[in-house]
Amino acid sequence: MAREVKIKGKSGDDGEPRPEAAPAAPPSPADAVEEKLRPQRLSEIIGQRAVAERLSIALAAAKKRGEPLPHILFDGPPGLGKTTFASVLHNELGVELNLTSGASLDKKMDVMPYLTNASEGSILFIDEIHRLPRAVEEFIYPVMEDFRVDVVLGEGMAARTINLPLKRFTIIGATTRSGMLSAPLRERFHMHEHLEFYDPDDLARIITINSAKMRATISDDAAWELAGRSRGTPRIANARLRWVRDYALARADGAIDLGVARDALDMQEIDSEGMDKQDRRYLDTLIRVFKGGPTGAEALAATMTLAVDTIRDEVEPYLLRREFVVRTPRGRVATSAAYRHLGLTEPQRDVMDDLLEGQRRLFL
Ligand code: ADP
Repeated sequence: MAREVKIKGKSGDDGEPRPEAAPAAPPSPADAVEEKLRPQRLSEIIGQRAVAERLSIALAAAKKRGEPLPHILFDGPPGLGKTTFASVLHNELGVELNLTSGASLDKKMDVMPYLTNASEGSILFIDEIHRLPRAVEEFIYPVMEDFRVDVVLGEGMAARTINLPLKRFTIIGATTRSGMLSAPLRERFHMHEHLEFYDPDDLARIITINSAKMRATISDDAAWELAGRSRGTPRIANARLRWVRDYALARADGAIDLGVARDALDMQEIDSEGMDKQDRRYLDTLIRVFKGGPTGAEALAATMTLAVDTIRDEVEPYLLRREFVVRTPRGRVATSAAYRHLGLTEPQRDVMDDLLEGQRRLFL
């Protein structure tokens, strides 16, 4: 099991208390179920075959050389398995795993306990690594290169830098926005792995395995139905499976067949494409308020009274992947598929507009 490092604050040379690593928030019941469903070994990972294969090579090499794993960066939308891969690697190596998030590492001293307490060969998982402030990011460059930190003691003319050697360990970074990572940070990761949305075949396998873990029975066609309506995302598939299981218990004999799965998902207003109310509201806002676009994420977020990060990280990636929306230099544009999905008639676009747009794309 992963754990968050907690270090008691101590008095430093300057008499100032040293900051503690941020304590982990207690897991919610949903988090606890998620943990139970998480694959433990590389052989239990479904899909992402190319990624899993490259990682198995890195693992075998690290074991043979008796060295830590190289630093690895995972990117991709939420719920696709970034944390799962990190936790599988720690299980395979039998080393310690410490979890933190870029959002909770405001200052250099916030990250210090994680570095000085890292044991030989252990893994430090930094979620949302794109949120690291620049000063903290620069502070960890020498850690990633030479396993040392440069600490400045004193101030002004009396200031001197000491190099503090660290144990050799691995940093695994995860991000939903690889584009926001600075080039120097990105270059310090030896492996870059991009996680893709899962195809329905793989999701159906995950759903069947996880329903067994939840002690529920599910028919093949029900698993397929659920897979096709889970936005290509295992975390969403798990959440919808939990709902369908409860629905089957409450409204039927507990077994999940196709009829039960359909009724349960319909009741949650999850449509045939797996879109929920929020996805449809996004498309509806883009089409009705912004006349199909182009418009920016900020304007959409403000109109929907949602955080722009929610739009960018959670709503848009799957809509872009399904080509309900395209991103142009001038902003988001709804495609014909989006109009069709909402049962709306697409307005005739001016031919000249299309020509200009085509030309603009050619030159970008
Ligand atoms: P992320 O860190 O990318 O947000 P997680 O690693 O937390 O996503 O994945 C969410 C859940 O999805 C996991 O708890 C696990 O049950 C399931 N999952 C993710 N990837 C896989 C996979 N490749 N095979 C099986 N289950 C997976």
